[in-house]
Amino acid sequence: MAKKKEMRKPRREAFAPPAEPVNVYCLHCGCTYTSDKIEWKQGPTSPIPTGGWCCPLDGCDGAGYGYDILPDQSNRFSQS
Ligand SMILES: [Zn+2]
Repeated sequence: MAKKKEMRKPRREAFAPPAEPVNVYCLHCGCTYTSDKIEWKQGPTSPIPTGGWCCPLDGCDGAGYGYDILPDQSNRFSQS
């Protein structure tokens, strides 16, 4: 996955995933994935129409690292 540093704006830092991917889980859909899967979504179909970091799962309205999407402390993933 290419990094999009040039796309970042200060407003996007709120609830942004950390620079180093960590294991996370979504409170809304219960899915677990790594934080680099969290997607910036914006627009009428986004859980946050004004733009926000959202769960990548289709149809899930979980949004925000540290808000709906939390670090997974349970080590369900093996370290690579
Ligand atoms: Zn979700």
